[in-house]
Amino acid sequence: MRIPWQTAKDEAFKALRDLIRLDTTNPPGNERIAADYLAEAMGRHGLDSTIKESAPTRANLVSRIKGNNTGNAPILLSSHTDVVPVEPAGWSRPAFAAEIADGCVWGRGALDMKSKCAMDLVVMTAIARAGAVPNRDVIMAAVADEEAGSDHGARFLVERHPELIRAGWVLNEVGGFTIYMGDRRYYTIQIAEKGFVTVKMTVNAPPGHGSMPRRDTAIGKMAALLTKITNTPMSMRVTPFMKKMLTELGVPLDNPGPLFRPMMGNTVTPTILRAGYKDNVIPGEASVILDGRTVPGEDPESFVAELRSIVGPEPKFELVKTAPPAETSPETELFKLIRERVEANDPGAHAIPWMIPGATDNKFYGKLGAQCYGFVPVKLEPHLPFGSLFHGNDERLPIEGFYWGLRVYAEVVLKFVGVKFDEVFA
Ligand SMILES: [Zn+2]
Repeated sequence: MRIPWQTAKDEAFKALRDLIRLDTTNPPGNERIAADYLAEAMGRHGLDSTIKESAPTRANLVSRIKGNNTGNAPILLSSHTDVVPVEPAGWSRPAFAAEIADGCVWGRGALDMKSKCAMDLVVMTAIARAGAVPNRDVIMAAVADEEAGSDHGARFLVERHPELIRAGWVLNEVGGFTIYMGDRRYYTIQIAEKGFVTVKMTVNAPPGHGSMPRRDTAIGKMAALLTKITNTPMSMRVTPFMKKMLTELGVPLDNPGPLFRPMMGNTVTPTILRAGYKDNVIPGEASVILDGRTVPGEDPESFVAELRSIVGPEPKFELVKTAPPAETSPETELFKLIRERVEANDPGAHAIPWMIPGATDNKFYGKLGAQCYGFVPVKLEPHLPFGSLFHGNDERLPIEGFYWGLRVYAEVVLKFVGVKFDEVFA
């Protein structure tokens, strides 16, 4: 049975709104409600799914449509069902009501990334309902815990259930949105992401009484070190891909601006500062958590060496957690197909390879040998820049831009798995 395109749009939009209304704020996550919702929706259309819990209420849903065994590597369509917390006072509308206003659906997760859960659900169930047989397995994963390090989500699946999700190709976040540079319009296709190196830095000095001031206290030393870190940018390390991307965009390499500078080298940001326990005691220790990010080609050792050169020999370092950077070639059949479908659906726009300064689940899928891209297509108007919506107050998604993205996404996935668009949709 072919699905009328209007029905597909309606189903995707309803699923998106339903999912926004399921509060999966992480922490604590509670992604089980989203996994159950998706499993029920898939079951209604005759599609089986498996739910793997990594802990109570931390659920990961996986479903697979078998291909015709032509030896092509499977494609994994992945999304995460958890969302970051909200500060309700900063929102103009409730964050979990999926209200419609100004042409947008409002709510936490509208953009990051329940929109793709909904797209994946519709593409998967449409293939199943049409009875189409792809030329490779198509796997859908809707995972927990991406916003808090993925231990209960993608990392859990990769380490504990790799057979469920092993694929040659992955479509996941973050990419596919419109950016405007001058009078030109681009769509970002994420091919690279930075790694992270989280370091606890500690300094010590003799404690004392607060009534007897001294210069050499732990807090004083820490203040000087933080000033140094904040005032000393880590050195530029422009990867060949970034150089090509920036040149294509016409961004000057020596003055890239705040959007691109974090992609052009390692960075370090102090995030949690601790010292002291009593108002009249000079503490003997002060510590800070440093959020370090590494570009492809760098590792924790090279990062720590550069950090050491900034702060000098005294402070103690302790590695809290690390994950490597990741980069996939844009010279693949899937990337070329993405570019072709995006540009065909928005004439005049250009699809470009993109690096994100943050981290995604692609890190973990890459360990299983997959070529991973961030591609959640959505057409954004200039007054709604992606950066202000992603994890921001008043997160919302333009409804027409979502429908546009659903169409592009369905075209890419179906073509890549050898199924004609009009074999599935009418
Ligand atoms: Zn996300």
